[in-house]
Amino acid sequence: MKIENRLQNLRHILVDKELDGFLVTQTENRYYLSGFDGSAGFLLITPQDTILATDFRYIEQAKAQAPDYEIFLISNDIAVWFPQLVADLNLRRLGFEAGHITFTMYHRLTEALNKAQSQSSLVPADRLVESLRAIKEPEEIELITQAVAITDEALNYIQGEISTGMSEKEVAWEIEKFLRENGSQSIPFDVMVASGPNSALPHAKPSPRTIQSGKPVIIDIGARVGGYSSDLSRTICLGTPNSTFNRVYDTVLGAQLTAMAIVKEGMTGEEADSLARVVIEEAIYGEAFGHGLGHGIGLATHELPRLGPNSTDQLVNGMVFTIEPAIYLTGWGGVRIEDVVRMEGGKLRAISKAKK
Ligand code: ZN
Repeated sequence: MKIENRLQNLRHILVDKELDGFLVTQTENRYYLSGFDGSAGFLLITPQDTILATDFRYIEQAKAQAPDYEIFLISNDIAVWFPQLVADLNLRRLGFEAGHITFTMYHRLTEALNKAQSQSSLVPADRLVESLRAIKEPEEIELITQAVAITDEALNYIQGEISTGMSEKEVAWEIEKFLRENGSQSIPFDVMVASGPNSALPHAKPSPRTIQSGKPVIIDIGARVGGYSSDLSRTICLGTPNSTFNRVYDTVLGAQLTAMAIVKEGMTGEEADSLARVVIEEAIYGEAFGHGLGHGIGLATHELPRLGPNSTDQLVNGMVFTIEPAIYLTGWGGVRIEDVVRMEGGKLRAISKAKK
């Protein structure tokens, strides 16, 4: 039923874009529209047809996971099978995911159509399925909520385990073990533990550096449940934080709480971002907040909507995204506080419950 609705929504978009069909190659989009989670295959969606083309390795899996789909076996060169696939479907304008398909693949597909003197031509189209994925169904919110609960627990756990003298790598491994042993599928991104000056790097890798008293430690972690991700950042300090830490931390927290309280349905990603950014700018740390305020989260850790300067994405009910203002001071370190929130009844509600 859920897949049927998603396909119906996509078909409305195809009519709007005057596309006779759409080729889906992006992994999460393929899963979202079919339930097939193999790592190779093409979906071809037309007003009447739903076809899943994949090779021998995935045929049985495809039949089991995508019962609503006609399964097409890829058994030879793309120059042969691709024109065959589209031959009888009467597709003049066939959309494809321009932001995902490689240059080489695009060439092979167009060459195959030309050689076969096919009437179909490829039309670049982006964000079609991504814009559907941005608005979550209740079942999807439930899975994200479960993933968020695991990261909340992991954060709580590590705060009891972490001590000065442990290396960032050791702390990261303790967290990863906890995530996996407490219900996370393979983790959606590498655990980040960055201490002291390393925490000034937004995507630092855990290093042999040891945790020291009085220095900031950014921990950024995710869990995955039923394919859906969570994303949580906290900044902690062992021992007594100095006045710089307190000032930076309070500014970031103030920016986050402001955004959580004021962001409303109908705002753009840019408007939401500026609500938090202004708080950081007023504390004269504006230049130290070098990334956007947040990102949608779901099957991918980073998806639509985007909250940041120049984002025209509209924030609407049903969306789930992060709010993660930060300040990074080269040589000193950084503070980032990140929660997952959902837009519901026109306002933001936090899904994350980890202490700040
Ligand atoms: Zn994030």
